[in-house]
Amino acid sequence: ENVAPNAARKLSFAETEKSGRRILAFVRVRPLGKKEKDAGSRCCVRIVDRRDVYLTEFASEKDYLRLKRLRGRHFTFDASFPDSVTQQEVYSTTTSELVEAVLEGRNGSVFCYGATGAGKTYTMLGTVESPGVMVLAIKDLFSKIRMRSCDGNHAVHLSYLEVYNETVRDLLSPGRPLVLREDKQGIVAAGLTQYRAYSTDEVMALLQQGNQNRTTEPTRANETSSRSHAILQVVIEYRARDAAMNVINKVGKLSLIDLAGSERALATEQRTVRSLEGANINRSLLALSSCINALVEGKKHIPYRNSKLTQLLKDSLRGTCNTVMIANISPSNLSFGETQNTLHWADRAKEIRTKATDANEDLLPVPETETDRTKLVLELQKENR
Ligand code: ADP
Ligand code: MG
Repeated sequence: ENVAPNAARKLSFAETEKSGRRILAFVRVRPLGKKEKDAGSRCCVRIVDRRDVYLTEFASEKDYLRLKRLRGRHFTFDASFPDSVTQQEVYSTTTSELVEAVLEGRNGSVFCYGATGAGKTYTMLGTVESPGVMVLAIKDLFSKIRMRSCDGNHAVHLSYLEVYNETVRDLLSPGRPLVLREDKQGIVAAGLTQYRAYSTDEVMALLQQGNQNRTTEPTRANETSSRSHAILQVVIEYRARDAAMNVINKVGKLSLIDLAGSERALATEQRTVRSLEGANINRSLLALSSCINALVEGKKHIPYRNSKLTQLLKDSLRGTCNTVMIANISPSNLSFGETQNTLHWADRAKEIRTKATDANEDLLPVPETETDRTKLVLELQKENR
């Protein structure tokens, strides 16, 4: 490819804000895995100009060369990353601008969305050799703080938490589930560890450790959790004095979110109550889809209260928050259905626009009983269809 690495990035937050768009949407295709190769998969995804994604069920490479065009569905995102992209490039294109904004006292959030095995954790956490967005963001943050150190004091606090089965847990200090409370600043998890971080080096180890604490499903002991959402919250507090010695205090929050596998939430075929319970549909992910649908449609009522995840992310989705969605997909034709669902979802999220009615509170009660929950899940599924 002869396209410059960041050439596709034509929209910045400032520009999207003018157009009213609130979410920047990116797609990352991971390389074909060994299992997929062994199973004889073909690649059904093609990225053109680092922007367009073509999903082709039948066209072969030969067809492509002969017809010079691709058959199948086509999507356009703010940038689309082929499997050769580096972690650093993904970070610079998607998140570095948010880090800048957070230092100015704004909030920002980055979500990774996609089926289990599509590359969400690799993108967010990465490995020791190739650290992902979470680690690169913190590294960048510390280097930006160093450059501004004569302006005032910055304190960086980290929290790493999990939502699994509508239970919130502290990944930095595992123990009893955390209770969500509403206070002046919004929804907070009571008792959550706020780890004061001083350097990048300690952070990677801390996050790896936290990831070990993520809930793994008993039936898939060797796989990382596919139904748990991991949220890293980085709070930056800035204190300084102006010329008149008045205290200036700015607080910005960056949330980096590795969502649960989307495959179960997207199974939207008609289900009975019993099979729903059996399948243990991820209520938080469904609720997130509902909120996104409601935001896209400019609805007055945004149902944040329907799940723990959406309560926690309320201040990341509404108002003036800068939001980035990274959709992770496999290139294999064996994952065609999941990939198509993920691309549709990201395509829709892209359409969330700022509305004057954003400040509306939602006042629906939080469902308490199992039957209420099941009813709610069915309703959410219907809404999302
Ligand atoms: P998810 O978190 O979406 O379930 P993972 O991030 O765990 O998926 O990725 C599944 C597997 O694919 C892992 O072994 C991971 O190391 C590998 N992988 C994912 N994305 C990439 C990539 N961009 N480059 C190399 N390997 C990747
Ligand atoms: Mg994962």
